[in-house]
Amino acid sequence: MRSYYPQFREGAEPGLVPKLGGLPWGLPARLWPVCRECNRAMSHLAQLPADGDALPLASGEVLFLFKCEWDSICSFWEHDGGANAAFVVQGAELGAGPTTPPPDATGEPPALLREIAIAGWRADDDGAPAESEEAFYDYMAHLDLPEEVVHPHEWASAWRTKSGGVPYWTANGVQGMPAGRLFLQIDNWVDIADGDPVEVANFCSDGTAYVFVDRSQVQPVYSMFINR
Ligand SMILES: [Zn+2]
Repeated sequence: MRSYYPQFREGAEPGLVPKLGGLPWGLPARLWPVCRECNRAMSHLAQLPADGDALPLASGEVLFLFKCEWDSICSFWEHDGGANAAFVVQGAELGAGPTTPPPDATGEPPALLREIAIAGWRADDDGAPAESEEAFYDYMAHLDLPEEVVHPHEWASAWRTKSGGVPYWTANGVQGMPAGRLFLQIDNWVDIADGDPVEVANFCSDGTAYVFVDRSQVQPVYSMFINR
């Protein structure tokens, strides 16, 4: 199925550019999510403006991802634990300039994740025939699919960060998922142009973050979870 694979480079230009890490651009401070478990501000994981088929949000929307990085004790891998966040904001609601995280009781800011720009997208086939799509959302049916279909390119990390298509599941297969279908996924490590692989965030050291979208709701609902 058609998927879009991001090309990364170190750092990002100021503005509403697609990127991982760094500070979000123009996010109203009141929307900065706080972890439900530890009550401290989460770390900004990604800012992703609508971009045609590569990021099929409604026109003008920006998807923001956050997760708790405090001492790695909160259940940030669960889609319903309140220790991560995935939500869209209308571009018109955003301000100008980077948003600094709100201070917590200790005055300490959340971890600032390494800023990695998405310089472009490469469209490619993820190796899954469209008729097998539903099997990628069923634990047993997924187990029955051929290895070269569920884990193409022999687990190469570059194929495990993408937008669209079917989930490239970790070795534990289909688990922990919310309602909906894959919107995008981000591997723990990504390749940077002319550089070594870099760590995106703490995804349980070697996991993959999955963002699902449930389009059965009046407004599409986004959620994130991490498997390893
Ligand atoms: Zn927390």
